[in-house]
Amino acid sequence: MSLQSPFQSLGLSSSICQTLSQLGFEMPTDIQLQAIPQILEGKDILASAQTGTGKTAAFGLPIIQRLLDAQAYEVETISAPENNQPSKQTQAAAVKALVLTPTRELAQQVFDNLQSYNQKLKIVVVYGGTSMSVQTKHVKAGADIVVATPGRLLDHLFVGNLHLKHTEMLVLDEADRMMDMGFMPDLQRILRRMSPEKQTLFFSATFTKRIREVAYKLLNDPVEIQIAPENSTADTVEQMVYPVNKSRKRELLSYLIGSRNWQQVLVFAKTKQTSDALAKELILDGIQAASINGDKSQGARQKALDDFKAGKVRALIATDVAARGLDIQQLPHVVNYELPFKAEDYVHRIGRTGRAGEKGQAISLMCPQEQYLLEAIENLLDKRLPQEWLAGYEPIFEEEEPQMKRRSRSSEKRKMKAKLNIHKNRGKRR
Ligand code: AMP
Repeated sequence: MSLQSPFQSLGLSSSICQTLSQLGFEMPTDIQLQAIPQILEGKDILASAQTGTGKTAAFGLPIIQRLLDAQAYEVETISAPENNQPSKQTQAAAVKALVLTPTRELAQQVFDNLQSYNQKLKIVVVYGGTSMSVQTKHVKAGADIVVATPGRLLDHLFVGNLHLKHTEMLVLDEADRMMDMGFMPDLQRILRRMSPEKQTLFFSATFTKRIREVAYKLLNDPVEIQIAPENSTADTVEQMVYPVNKSRKRELLSYLIGSRNWQQVLVFAKTKQTSDALAKELILDGIQAASINGDKSQGARQKALDDFKAGKVRALIATDVAARGLDIQQLPHVVNYELPFKAEDYVHRIGRTGRAGEKGQAISLMCPQEQYLLEAIENLLDKRLPQEWLAGYEPIFEEEEPQMKRRSRSSEKRKMKAKLNIHKNRGKRR
């Protein structure tokens, strides 16, 4: 008697289940348990799932299953691209399913995952920062599934490389970040080119009132799936805050990496400048480091990521936007070199570790000026984060004082000047 795979009881075929067991997927994760049967039934989904919960497979597997069942594949010849230039007879490829992601890295990662689940379907990835012509060749050869960032997808739609008239399934992955990054107008342009009949799957790590409002406009009687409580962090992530003066953060980071023998640590900085400068300083300290941020070319970002995954780089310094969507298997340590401006970003950041049930550690280096950012994070999580003063790195509060005094003295001076000017101007008017 052969035992049925737990994935098979969700409605997935035995051949997909076989691939999953080769990939080492033994049990479906919570989001997969809840989403897969509903998506197979054709329902719209509004899913709130943290990063690392297995959400890519939660939408990817049933999409692949449905496409395989329908054995659908078509390349349509239409008379002209949508800008209606009759002279250019173009073959625009029909797309069966579309996955939109906010960043290039996430697009690449979703593509890699989908490909690992199935080799029969044609899956194509398109994103900016890379050659349009190579993508055009792939797209025009026809695609069952297109994984794309919104801007580059529009480029392909505008030149008539593909069309979405018959697209039956749409996934908005990390929809909250897509809105944050200002993709709403692009998204609307894309939606206008799609049939209202399609199935829409809306995935978001966080769920604010605004996101929910947008989601309900796009979805048709959706099934709501909520895996972790809103704005929470995985239990498998051990969190710790080390208070330290700003001027000693770099030194403390080098000390932690060295003394604790961290071999793979993802470090978050708030700005591109800090991420580049910090990587340079760590290298001077003898730690292999690289930075990844929006100023780097796609090639440089991919190389830094590949080196990090391969263990050639010990510390990868990233900004929030660049790190979005990074999936590094069993990432053990995440460091917040600077606390994020937005408390929600803390949840995204530390979601990079402790993925799919693995243990992880998230450490925040907090200087006294960042206390209010920690409070915002604690309010969002509705819990206090443990703090520890490390011997030799205890924050010296006096250190902040001369600056504060200087600031208050100069603001007094400004006020005095302003008063004097008022008197002068009054004198002139008289
Ligand atoms: P995601 O949330 O889609 O980024 O997935 C996080 C990680 O978990 C990825 O590396 C997946 O390959 C892995 N994963 C997804 N589903 C499972 C599963 N059922 N069993 C084991 N690993 C999984």
